[in-house]
Amino acid sequence: MRFSDEFLTELRSRVDIEELVGRYTEIRHRGSRTPVALCPFHTEKTPSFVIYRENQSYYCFGCGAGGDAITFVKNIERLDYVEAVRYLCERVGMNMPMDPVDDQYNKLRRRCFEANREAAKFFYSRLLSEEGAPAREYLKKRRLTDETVKHFGLGYAPDRWDSLLKYLRSKGYRDDELVSFDLARKTSRGGTIDAFRNRLMFPIIDLRGNVIAFGGRVLDDSKPKYLNTSDTVVYKKSQGVYALNFAKNNNDGRLILCEGYMDVIAMHQAGFTNAVAGLGTAFTQEQISLLSRYCTELTLCFDSDEAGVKATNRALKMLEHAPMKLRVMHLDGGKDPDEIIKTQGKERMDQIIGSAMNDTEFALDRIRKKYDTATEDGKLNYMNEAVEVLAEIGNEIERDLYTSRLASETGIEKQALEAQISKARRARGRKQKQKEFENALEIVREGSDVKSPNPQKRQFRRACAAEEIILASLLKHPDYLRKLKDKLSEDVFVTDYNKRYFRDLSSRIREGRSLDLSVFNETGDNEEMAYLSYLLAKGDSLADSLTECEQCIQTLLSEKTKADAPNVGKMSNDEFRALFRKNKP
Ligand SMILES: [Zn+2]
Repeated sequence: MRFSDEFLTELRSRVDIEELVGRYTEIRHRGSRTPVALCPFHTEKTPSFVIYRENQSYYCFGCGAGGDAITFVKNIERLDYVEAVRYLCERVGMNMPMDPVDDQYNKLRRRCFEANREAAKFFYSRLLSEEGAPAREYLKKRRLTDETVKHFGLGYAPDRWDSLLKYLRSKGYRDDELVSFDLARKTSRGGTIDAFRNRLMFPIIDLRGNVIAFGGRVLDDSKPKYLNTSDTVVYKKSQGVYALNFAKNNNDGRLILCEGYMDVIAMHQAGFTNAVAGLGTAFTQEQISLLSRYCTELTLCFDSDEAGVKATNRALKMLEHAPMKLRVMHLDGGKDPDEIIKTQGKERMDQIIGSAMNDTEFALDRIRKKYDTATEDGKLNYMNEAVEVLAEIGNEIERDLYTSRLASETGIEKQALEAQISKARRARGRKQKQKEFENALEIVREGSDVKSPNPQKRQFRRACAAEEIILASLLKHPDYLRKLKDKLSEDVFVTDYNKRYFRDLSSRIREGRSLDLSVFNETGDNEEMAYLSYLLAKGDSLADSLTECEQCIQTLLSEKTKADAPNVGKMSNDEFRALFRKNKP
């Protein structure tokens, strides 16, 4: 074991999970037994992130995130287990007990970081070499300076099958490692080849300066245009944001979200060092929550072509409940930022950024384009939809401004518009209240079990509910195991998932080990921690009675007979007769 139970319990007692979480999201009902907050791991309008002060745990009934302070730090700061423990130690002024022994997983992660760094160095050296001439030619065409190339660590993957492989083998890396780091790939014939060949290479760097992945762009028109590292031990493409390592220090709370690597690089070179991009996939909630920690205003800067407009709309939809202001750039006179900077200069780009529409203006603009406002019908449709948009605006002054503008634009009396908007706002408020109420009800009742990691939950709903109560009771009252020893064994469990947890919990209880969440954290993954937190949350609302557990065992026994009962409809005639004979008294 890496850290002793005593150490972890001490750390846990010094960390206040409410205070910790409060640094990332606003907490409501502060100081109460179960404060709630807007979940920092998914975007939501009504809080479903509950903190259990007694257990020092949290559970989100919206997305199923859960755990203790260590899990929280791990996920929000994207640290591994040991790093998260160190982070918390530093916060509360405790010493790390010793240099923790590396486990397999952390060793692998470190090796992956090192291999990636070596690869980046190799690609950079190839770019400067003779064989890198075509890539240098391309960069020259895109007018990237040597400084920019170096700043972003761009490189070139040679047009050969195994140049990086040979290099990394000489540094002591094995083929199977390189395949798992996605630097090399297996061929159908069982050989190993470089994952990236004849491509311009963009290293992807995390917030701590580690090279975690690569994007590779072709130099001609071949496909795919971009090739990216798949998910590895150090990289999840749904989580990363390109160039955030630079942009996080160079913005005044504003970030510009571009479509691709080249856009970002062109922007930085022109002095817009707050530009970032997603990593070649659709924009995700994880990326939004990461961005929201570094900006209060996000400007979308996507291509002006049809695909770009579609991407803008998709992103706006994702960002609907995001906690930052949104603006949308209108790139007229050029397809992408790179082109505008090249043909019209960075002053023009500056103007475009300055005149970016906010999300209200963008929404109104879209509606306006849908209708022919020269006709009465078109004007009416435009007004009806615009009223819905204006009703969304929380700030009164802002709302009034847009109402005046809409009035003069459509020639409709401002007072009439105001009446419409208040009506829409009242309806909206009722809907919102109803939703909050339903949400709260659901949390109290059952928690949304849609997210249950138990694959058999749908099939055995009743049994699952009973199993969860038993597990939750055991976590809260380990002595129940002894008190129920004649009735409770793993055979009682219907679903394999809960059976596994029972097995683990009961052996811990028998060995007299701690059931504290921080102890599970060492071996438990996110899913396990979230599930245990879910059980703790459930335990919080239990009546605390042995009788309840006994009833649950009864439920399980009767559900088990049902689960084991043969499906008569699917039997052959012989089987059916045999069953009949067996059951005859
Ligand atoms: Zn959540």
